[in-house]
Amino acid sequence: MSSIIQLLPDHVANQIAAGEVVQRPASVVKELLENAVDAKATDIKLIIKDAGKSLVQVIDNGLGMSVTDARLCFERHATSKIRQAEDLFSLHTKGFRGEALASIAAIAHVEMKTKQDQEELGHNIVIEGSKFVSQELAVLPKGTSFAIKNLFFNIPARRNFLKSDIVEHRHIVDEFQRVALAHPNIYFTFYHNGSELFNLPPSNSRQRIVNIFSGKTNEKLVPVQEITEIVSIQGFVSKPEFAKKSRGEQFFFVNNRYIKSGYLHHAIMAAYEGLLKDGCQPSYFLYLDVPPHTIDINIHPTKTEIKFDDEHALYAILRSSIKHSLGQFNVAPVLDFDR
Ligand code: ADP
Ligand code: MG
Repeated sequence: MSSIIQLLPDHVANQIAAGEVVQRPASVVKELLENAVDAKATDIKLIIKDAGKSLVQVIDNGLGMSVTDARLCFERHATSKIRQAEDLFSLHTKGFRGEALASIAAIAHVEMKTKQDQEELGHNIVIEGSKFVSQELAVLPKGTSFAIKNLFFNIPARRNFLKSDIVEHRHIVDEFQRVALAHPNIYFTFYHNGSELFNLPPSNSRQRIVNIFSGKTNEKLVPVQEITEIVSIQGFVSKPEFAKKSRGEQFFFVNNRYIKSGYLHHAIMAAYEGLLKDGCQPSYFLYLDVPPHTIDINIHPTKTEIKFDDEHALYAILRSSIKHSLGQFNVAPVLDFDR
């Protein structure tokens, strides 16, 4: 009898994991922005070239990394965010898998610069296709910069699958907006091919929405607020008369994380019942806070889907609070057929 099973070498395992974590330049943008947020940055810059195909760079003024961490962060399952399985049920960070940097470094050229506040000098590390190329001491500002070049350089099929710059750029803008909306207190700027696309000074959530989607948005928003034991909801929905034929801007954040949920979307549509013209959709920006142990974020590698303990209760609370807000702000003609 001969045995044929082997453990895959790390760089192969990383490349396979990268297939899940990194679908396109926008995935890199999401992971780097979230890491910067987790590092408690108050100022985050996103710089891209050619829709992220030539460059995705994120510069933060966060905690930075020690020299040991600066090497270790590229290892798979290397994370400072959880230590034991129980921590998964009390997450306060965006990351926890310790997979993003290992994946990105497996399929791109990465230059990282990082310095902790208390250190005199920082570290500049270059890694390409999981191989360390160079590491040197450098005079750097506090914080971390990741520059990702030549994404998918060693997976031509993947590279060829990328869509036009317009499409890839759209995905990046989406990711940027999600993180910027989730963290209005952080200063975000975004440059594409040298020109500034967004400049978002720290503010509150209403002002952040307006800064991203233009001043006209302000008058369209109705505030929503509800505090119960299982969820606290705050945010804004659009007045029914501003509903759009397209999907409009629709955002759910759960514990400051952007998520997609067809079920909760349905709760919102139910709250608007009888108020919308056929085929029109409202915009919404809703921030839900739930006790961390009542959700499971781990069901999707990119973490945009989560599982709630009590989805039905959430549905009912969301629907009724939005209905209440729409009524309270007297935003629509009184429609009897809603009863
Ligand atoms: P995760 O975010 O799931 O922990 P990542 O692969 O994204 O995994 O990052 C690995 C580790 O590298 C993080 O846990 C963190 O300690 C460190 N790190 C990554 N990005 C930054 C950053 N911008 N500033 C400081 N530390 C960082
Ligand atoms: Mg991360």
